[in-house]
Amino acid sequence: MIEPVMPTYARIDVSFERGEGAYLYTADGRRYLDFGSGIAVNLLGHSHPKLVAALQQQAGKLWHTSNLYQSEGQKEMAAKLTANCFADTVFFCNSGAEALEGCIKTARKYHSANGHPERYRVITFEGAFHGRTLATMAAGGQEKILAGFGPKTDGFDQVPFGDLKATEAAIGDQTAAILIEPIQGEGGIRPAEHGFLKGLRALCDKHGLLLLMDEVQCGMGRTGKLFAHQWSDITPDVMGVAKGIGGGFPLGAFLATEEAAKGMVAGSHGTTYGGNMLAMACGNTVIDEVLSDGFLDRVNDVANRLKQGLAGIVDRYPSVVKGIRGSGLMLGLECVVPNGDLGNRLRDHQMLTVPAGDNVLRLLPPLVVTDEDIERALSTIEMACDDLAQKAGAS
Ligand code: PLP
Repeated sequence: MIEPVMPTYARIDVSFERGEGAYLYTADGRRYLDFGSGIAVNLLGHSHPKLVAALQQQAGKLWHTSNLYQSEGQKEMAAKLTANCFADTVFFCNSGAEALEGCIKTARKYHSANGHPERYRVITFEGAFHGRTLATMAAGGQEKILAGFGPKTDGFDQVPFGDLKATEAAIGDQTAAILIEPIQGEGGIRPAEHGFLKGLRALCDKHGLLLLMDEVQCGMGRTGKLFAHQWSDITPDVMGVAKGIGGGFPLGAFLATEEAAKGMVAGSHGTTYGGNMLAMACGNTVIDEVLSDGFLDRVNDVANRLKQGLAGIVDRYPSVVKGIRGSGLMLGLECVVPNGDLGNRLRDHQMLTVPAGDNVLRLLPPLVVTDEDIERALSTIEMACDDLAQKAGAS
């Protein structure tokens, strides 16, 4: 008999009752070190006092009025975002997939507004993940995600990640845009080379295309800059964000330059909940913290410490792990053993991580992770690797 909760997830048999900082607690008091952050969501950790206060205060005042009316919270957050990146304008929505749909729609509308409605196709990259709606799963192009859901939504052409020649060869009269995650998340923490991103920007400029960035997982300070592409000295035309932006409250957004958003006028796009008062109370608090003095410097410091410690573990346990990928607090351990084995063993030692493609295990701690949390994570990973190395040696 089917369960009342639709069984679309292969859930692990553990549940949590409360959280604090980088820790989650089960009802019977077991404490887990959370280096998954709800898949890169809880940027400020669990129960951050400022986030709790902001949400509680707003909950007592007003939750939702819809986008029929003005929103001071949206204006405030959009001003903070646009002051700190390439974008001139922001649309608030509820999730990553919805943010990416918005990016794709903005690109199509831009060309239509320019008199070229035939330019609607988007070039995407192998290994990408952009969401589970009909269009975003077509953009991701992964067979296992598309299977059984009917014809793949038209309008996406996929090329190998990092291959500039193949990208240029895929550009045709109907191409509207190129869409890329600066660091592929689900695909296995695969960073795009800075030179490749620069090359994509140049291709877009040469062929009149828009460059769309998916920063749903890597954005909002996770890599040590507000947005990951800011390490590459290039800017996109449109960008999707979500996950960390609400600190755990469902919130997404897409951001665009004034030029790229020229087709997005009243009536062209909408959503009932997007950017409601509760979401904005959380979003404004998260961005204030992330942009506060020294916050991102600290992310870079702890990230370096974590990376150095991991490098030592990679040296000591070559039969278990063979490398580290990623940047800031978006790191991937390249596994020799199946990544699920290492993830399970870490969970036995009460530490949570997230698997990814390419046999990589993701480490995505909250950005407020302390030095002590990092030390604990490293000693737990060491223990788990030791267990697995001994097991490998024994067999
Ligand atoms: N884009 C990227 C890069 C993601 O990692 C994800 C989710 O993992 C999405 C889009 C989809 O976001 P959501 O699950 O909030 O729809």
